[in-house]
Order: sequence, then structure tokens, then C-alpha cells
Amino acid sequence: EVVVSSFVADDAEVKRIYKARPEFSHKGHFGKAVVVGGSYGKTGAILLAGRVCARVGAGLTFISAPECAYSASLMQVPEAMFEFAGAREIEAINVIEDGEYGIGPGFGRTETARLALENFLRGHSRPILLDADALTLFSSHFNLLSWVPKDSILTPHPKEFDRLFGASPNSFARLELAKEMAKKHQLNIVLKDHHTQIVLHTGEVYYNVTGNSGLAKGGSGDVLTGIITSLLAQKYSPKEAAIFGVWIHGKAADLALKGQSKESLLASDVIESVGKVFN
Ligand code: AMP
Ligand code: MG
Repeated sequence: EVVVSSFVADDAEVKRIYKARPEFSHKGHFGKAVVVGGSYGKTGAILLAGRVCARVGAGLTFISAPECAYSASLMQVPEAMFEFAGAREIEAINVIEDGEYGIGPGFGRTETARLALENFLRGHSRPILLDADALTLFSSHFNLLSWVPKDSILTPHPKEFDRLFGASPNSFARLELAKEMAKKHQLNIVLKDHHTQIVLHTGEVYYNVTGNSGLAKGGSGDVLTGIITSLLAQKYSPKEAAIFGVWIHGKAADLALKGQSKESLLASDVIESVGKVFN
């Protein structure tokens, strides 16, 4: 018997996942998404995540960031609510009841930030998304991983993955290690790359086919975090949110090439193309 454990996240797969937005509804139906990060010098990262989070349809978007991000947040994402999380760095993460969390873009890597993350994890049991600095903070405190709720989503780029789980000689070896770690820690690992691999906690792998090298720029991953967090808020399961979110991200980048080139594409352009993807 052949056991199939690799799949392609194609249009048909994504159509099965997509839930049409009901007309008889209000913002309460579409959940609360909370993106956390944006220390001084990395404020843009959390604003990109927050902006796309609103664009992907969360009922309410919260930007949990230090005070230094406050006025930029009001200007760039007036639709979002701002949660004070510190002065110039993340000092404490407020708990928004029933909020689904995406943590990491511009989060910072200080001891203060690490403690704030640890305290949050100790009190949280629903799946969350962890990205960027939040992942890097784990590298030096591997035991923190045991506090991450089961079925959570990690979205490392290759360097972040290697920092976390050790270096791999090539991408095949990295994928094998990701499968092992996903099963061991009961987490979903999104190995970001050209043809991103979504490694589920079951060991199954979905290969994404959207996206282009215009995404090989600062800010792209922050947009992915916002997209997936928004889907979690809308009650997509972690598996669905990861597969669908990676697909949306790449598709938006592909559609944005109508008005831009791979050279000129900005993360902000990807955000502005999300509407076309849903249409
Ligand atoms: P980050 O390094 O965290 O900003 O994440 C980069 C994002 O852009 C990930 O979602 C990658 O999959 C995507 N990306 C980067 N380079 C490429 C590429 N050459 N082709 C397709 N997607 C890419
Ligand atoms: Mg990143």
C-alpha cells in the first residue's frame, strides 16, 4: 500500500478550503486577530502585518506594539485598534479575549521581549502563529518550545529554521527535519521559500505553487503573518489557515505583477492585491 503524504496546494485544494463570507453577519462573526511585534526600528513589520490582517477579513484587528508604533499605526492602519505593549520594545503582551495571535514581526530579541513572550505562552492554550524574532528568541531558549500550544503554526525562513533546529546541508534534509520536528512538537511548520512547504503536525506536506521572486525582499514574511492570523480569527483551522494563507500571499504577489515588476514589487503592493485574489 502506498501512503501519500505529499500534496500540492493547487486552486482546487484552496477552493475546498475557502468559506464564502455570509451576508447576514457582523464583525463579531469574523473574529479578533491580534498581531504582536514592532519594536523601535522595526515598526514597519507589524504595520504591514496589521494592514493585511484587516484586508483579509478579520472582524477586528488589533496591533499590539510598543508606544513608538502608535502614531504610525493610526496613520497606516486606522481600521485597527492599538494595544499598548511597552515603550520602545515589547514589555508585556495584553490578552484580548478570544483573540487569535500572530506574534513576531519586529518583535525584538531582548531579554525583556523574551520574558514577555514566555509569560504570554504560559497563559495561552489556543493555537497561535509564531514568526521572525519570536522564533529566533526560541533558538537560545529551546525549552520555550514546550510552552507553544499544540497545533500552532511556525513560519520560519530557512535561516530561522536552521537557528531553531540546527543547520541542514540542503533543502531536502531541512524538509525531513521539519517533518520530524513537526510531529515531535505537534506543530505546523511553514518552510518559507520559493515553493513554500507547509509541514503539518501529522508529517503531511503541502507544496505551494504561487509566488515569485518579487517577494524576495524585506516585509514579505510580515505580510504572510498578517494573512494567516486573519484566517485563524475567521475560524479556519491551523491547517487550512497555513495552506490557504501561503497560497493567498503568493497569488497576491503574482497578481500585483500586472502593475509592478519583480524588482519593483513592495510588500505593500502585495497587500493591495489581496482583494483581487478573493475576487
Ligand atoms: P521573510 O524572509 O520572512 O520576509 O519571508 C519571505 C516570504 O517571501 C516568504 O513567504 C517566502 O516564501 C516568500 N519568498 C521569498 N523569496 C521568494 C521567491 N524567490 N519566490 C517565491 N516566494 C518567495
Ligand atoms: Mg520574516
